[in-house]
Amino acid sequence: MPSISITPVTDRPLLGATLDELNAWVEAQGQPKYRGKQLYQWIYQQGVRSLTDISVFPKSWRAGLADVIVGRSHLRHKSEATDGTVKYLLQLADGQIIETVGIPTQKRLTVCVSSQVGCPMACDFCATGKGGFQRNLEPHEIIDQVLTVQEDFGQRVSNIVFMGMGEPLLNTENVLAAVRSLNQDIGIGQRSITISTVGIPNRIRRLAQHHLQTTLAVSLHAPNQALRQELIPSAQNYSLRALMQECREYVEETGRRVTFEYIVLADFNDKPAHAMELANLLRGFQSHVNLIPYNPISEVDYQRPTEQRLQAFVKALEKNKVTVSIRRSRGLDKDAACGQLRASILEKLA
Ligand code: SAH
Repeated sequence: MPSISITPVTDRPLLGATLDELNAWVEAQGQPKYRGKQLYQWIYQQGVRSLTDISVFPKSWRAGLADVIVGRSHLRHKSEATDGTVKYLLQLADGQIIETVGIPTQKRLTVCVSSQVGCPMACDFCATGKGGFQRNLEPHEIIDQVLTVQEDFGQRVSNIVFMGMGEPLLNTENVLAAVRSLNQDIGIGQRSITISTVGIPNRIRRLAQHHLQTTLAVSLHAPNQALRQELIPSAQNYSLRALMQECREYVEETGRRVTFEYIVLADFNDKPAHAMELANLLRGFQSHVNLIPYNPISEVDYQRPTEQRLQAFVKALEKNKVTVSIRRSRGLDKDAACGQLRASILEKLA
């Protein structure tokens, strides 16, 4: 795991701290070390929000711990779609609001977490980008999202995808600190954690150096530079060639294949020629393509592809030996696209 610079645990919320750090903290409070293990369990397993609620702590000590910040958010809004997907709006200590999604399937409970409040990338099809960027999330604010969904479902979270608000690789240090904790303190396997990025120069290369077993998903969305630039403003300063080179190095360095996400926009990037171009781009590459039919947002007028066009696109890729799957958007009946629920609620709160 990456080494992360440690600030004294008392200066920051407890969530995200290692067992060693909590042991040191309780000892600094004049308590026996085993109380560190108790604190660790109450924070990560029981999901305690205030140390005054830790019933195994002596009352005399507990009473003085009211001001210690655990780092939990407040649930501001929750909406459940007919397919069981639940969207949460969580309010952070400074009043900012983020979106988190719980996605249950037969065997899994996946949490789609945010890594930033808003997003500076401003991709044309994405609702989050339309609202601008506020700030990076702290590690405890990422971990809290997972605990919140776990508690609400009353079920252990099995998978995490960094596909909520924000660009994780613009907040790499905090994302990696959260990943460490989610893995070691909450027990979610690294292989069950996916970091999704639109690609920031040199950041995929640097991520590879950490030798994580997490999955890397790259939001490709177009098979050539010209088309990609139309969708993703930052692509103007980052060529597709450079992005693919970093992905290649990532595979070599980590031995993990890369998932490429491709949002399918009718008549924009879903033609047979685009499929051919994509297949050529990925030739000889250990990869997997995830097609995401576009979820309409009100600000732009892209269209969802027809089922027929989508299937033709899949077939064309498969014919060219590209492994491909379609990611059906869940929760379509409730402000489906990322950031949309937040946008509509913020409007109402304003
Ligand atoms: N910034 C990161 C993670 C956030 S977006 C990234 O770009 O990968 C996570 C995924 O949601 C991306 O693949 C993105 O393309 C997709 N997405 C965003 N808006 C969408 C929309 N309107 N319809 C379908 N997928 C969308």
